[in-house]
Amino acid sequence: MSNESVEQPGSCRFCKSELRHTFVDLGMSPLCESFLRHDQLNQMEAFYPLHAFVCDKCFLVQLQEYVSPEKIFTEYAYFSSYSESWLEHCRRYTEQIIARCGLNRHSLVVELASNDGYLLQYFVKNGVPVLGIEPAANVAQAAVEKGVPTLVRFFGAQLAAELAGEGKQADLLVGNNVLAQVPDLCDFVAGMKVLLKPQGVFTLEFPHLLRLMEGNQFDTIYHEHFSYFSFLAAEKIFGAQGLVLFDVEELPTHGGSLRIFGRHCEDDSKPLSPRVLEMRASEEAAGLSRLESYRCFAERVKQTKRRLLECLIRAKQGGGSIAGYGAPGKGNTLLNYCGIGRDFLDYTVDRNPYKHGLFTPGTHIPIYPPEKIREARPDYLLILPWNLRTEIMQQMAFIRDWGGRFIVPIPEATICW
Ligand SMILES: [Zn+2]
Repeated sequence: MSNESVEQPGSCRFCKSELRHTFVDLGMSPLCESFLRHDQLNQMEAFYPLHAFVCDKCFLVQLQEYVSPEKIFTEYAYFSSYSESWLEHCRRYTEQIIARCGLNRHSLVVELASNDGYLLQYFVKNGVPVLGIEPAANVAQAAVEKGVPTLVRFFGAQLAAELAGEGKQADLLVGNNVLAQVPDLCDFVAGMKVLLKPQGVFTLEFPHLLRLMEGNQFDTIYHEHFSYFSFLAAEKIFGAQGLVLFDVEELPTHGGSLRIFGRHCEDDSKPLSPRVLEMRASEEAAGLSRLESYRCFAERVKQTKRRLLECLIRAKQGGGSIAGYGAPGKGNTLLNYCGIGRDFLDYTVDRNPYKHGLFTPGTHIPIYPPEKIREARPDYLLILPWNLRTEIMQQMAFIRDWGGRFIVPIPEATICW
């Protein structure tokens, strides 16, 4: 291993050990949701290191806090309610968890990073009292308009103590895709311990590090995500605050996620599910408790970059034109790391009307509505949200009419007819 960091990587977000080992270094990159207007193209752009480390004591994969959460989460508000499949996922979860925990009108459900009330609205419909906690004021406002009471605050031990002091503790504490975005992990989990009733349950969903590594999903690493969790690391982090993970489910969301179920270690009313033992065993078998497994990842990522570039260079040298499909955050990690600009992609298209007329950060590729593909008839379509490739290849099947082909970049660059 030749490329140890010359930076001062600092200490582990969880166990405070010195960080000495690179997981993957994706170079300098702008914030992946900082799309540009036309009049910003000639201005300076902020680039930050996108260098992930793995802790050799607790195996938490992590980025330094290069950009403050205030800057990220108050400026780049993301409304969860735009995706129908995600809402359906949340509605089903609500039904299951109400039955499993026996929640009723005397219970309290608290969600951390409750966004626009996309989830809590289903508890409200079922007559279960809720409280949302959300730092972005404009998305919190949308939640309040749906009838979801929401506190505009960042969550931590301080806020948990205030709420518990007012007699507000949770029967169910929920956090979906928030744990990765927490800079002070120990303070956040300590707050969960304080806010949870003695017999309460918490559930959290986050992308599974095992799937990221197996699927070579390096483009899901971005500045907004400070931490990348295995189940083994999550058990240590919650265990340190007196919380036990008693069940776990695997979900298909975000390229493969985990939903963990936790309780107080003093609460012996909820036995350990066999799925906990199976998950530990499968992560052990995949090498997630050995440093060497993590250190192999960086080399695979470099290979993926070279193969994707080879594929694009061949397409261009054969006289082909290439367009992108999608402008997701992960697409920007991929394009910036691989150095793919307008020399390869003439433009990209996206279904989100808010992105039309804007340009991708760093690489300045223009974003059009999907209809552009029919007019321009590109020879190749590079699918940036590769996790949706099946759906996109069906929607865009008509490019085959003029001999167009799809390029899927991850896990390995592949051309599909
Ligand atoms: Zn550590």
